[in-house]
Amino acid sequence: MINKFDTQSIFSFSAIAADNLAVHELAGFQQTFSSGYFCRRCLVTYENRLLPLTDVHFIQRTHLQHNKYLNSLENDLQMKSKFGVVGPSPLNGLQNFDPTTSFPGDLMHDFYEGVCPLIIMAMLKEASSSRLITYNAIQNRTENFVYGNLDKSNKPPAIMVKHFNSDRIVGSAAQKYCLFRLFPIMFSDLVERLESFKIYLILRELLDMVLALSQRKRWLPFMETLSINFQCLMLDLLPHKVIPKVHFITEYTRIIDENGPPVRYWCMRYEAAHLYFKKIAMQSYNFKNIPKTSAQRQQLRQCFFLSKPYFLRTFEEASDTKQTRMHEIDSKVKILIAQRYGQQLVQSDQSLLRCSKLIHNHIIYKQYAVYVYDLEHVEEIPLFFQVLYIFKFNQRWMFIVDFLNTDGFSTKLWSYKLSSYGRLGIVLPNDLKYFHKGLDLYEIDNLHVVNLTSRLTKNN
Ligand SMILES: [Zn+2]
Repeated sequence: MINKFDTQSIFSFSAIAADNLAVHELAGFQQTFSSGYFCRRCLVTYENRLLPLTDVHFIQRTHLQHNKYLNSLENDLQMKSKFGVVGPSPLNGLQNFDPTTSFPGDLMHDFYEGVCPLIIMAMLKEASSSRLITYNAIQNRTENFVYGNLDKSNKPPAIMVKHFNSDRIVGSAAQKYCLFRLFPIMFSDLVERLESFKIYLILRELLDMVLALSQRKRWLPFMETLSINFQCLMLDLLPHKVIPKVHFITEYTRIIDENGPPVRYWCMRYEAAHLYFKKIAMQSYNFKNIPKTSAQRQQLRQCFFLSKPYFLRTFEEASDTKQTRMHEIDSKVKILIAQRYGQQLVQSDQSLLRCSKLIHNHIIYKQYAVYVYDLEHVEEIPLFFQVLYIFKFNQRWMFIVDFLNTDGFSTKLWSYKLSSYGRLGIVLPNDLKYFHKGLDLYEIDNLHVVNLTSRLTKNN
């Protein structure tokens, strides 16, 4: 409870998000992941991680059992570690704290910086060893791939020969995810000939569900099956790549069951903030007191943001605006405007304000981007429209959109196939309900496809 001037804020501790090494240090578990009991949630050992999950079920850690391990450590000072537990956590006095459940896995570290780049590397190496593509051609392709307008802010660096030698993909977590997501589009000509692409498909389906912000309880058994399939296929095809994170991935069903959607407690926001401090540390040339400079800059930055009138409030911000006269507007669009706002407006040759990007209530709308406006049938097939124009009329912004046809789902490209029949319509920013992220349309194999960033479900 925090006392304020005239009120009190009541809160309770629930979970801590951190990378695995930091968690193990803070929770009092062993800090090595290459031997012994490396998991903070169950009693798997480093050797047993290679047992297929179809044959074995690992005992889950419990608060009671954890305390017993701590007691035996206390009673026998010679003993350095008991089932991976090395000592009490400094947070033990915190109400609601339990070292075995208070540290759910972090999606960013386990997926984006863990298994996703691992699978990308495995697929590319397989492609090269099967003589489907050379390292140089891979570098060329990753360098010259044309990313969509929205994806290009996370454009990953090219994968070079030296990265294959070091077995590492460089870049930020968001860039690695962007590469993982667009991999089937980027390498559409060869993915189907790769054995390891089977692992990609299972992992991708699982990740799409893990990333979903509204999740359904009834997904959990299927997610469990996907996790088991993923682990078994890894053992079959890439046994040397079964790192501890492969085991951690298989525990997300339980993590979600206990804590809800992982994007609610991931390290992504922290990483973005951390990036800012890293930049300051590099650029300030302060070698004596970096924390002081960082704190000062951070405070000034916060003051600046808080002084802006739209901080945490509803606002509109349009960029690249210009006036368009009625006679310059496409005739189909004019018919639409006339139907909605009357013939007089169209005949008056009045000018309308138009823009290419609109931020409305913290949501970014971009011209030519694709948005999900509904989910259809029990399968929850997304319906899309593409924003053709963004106009302002009567002090209100509106989108002229093309309602696209969802022609099906391409498993190979892990994308929805879309086509246009020229069904235009007017949509207002507040009409959008299901998915506020703009998506890029890619053209591949004579198809127009859109690659979602998570599985969608209605909020009811
Ligand atoms: Zn475990």
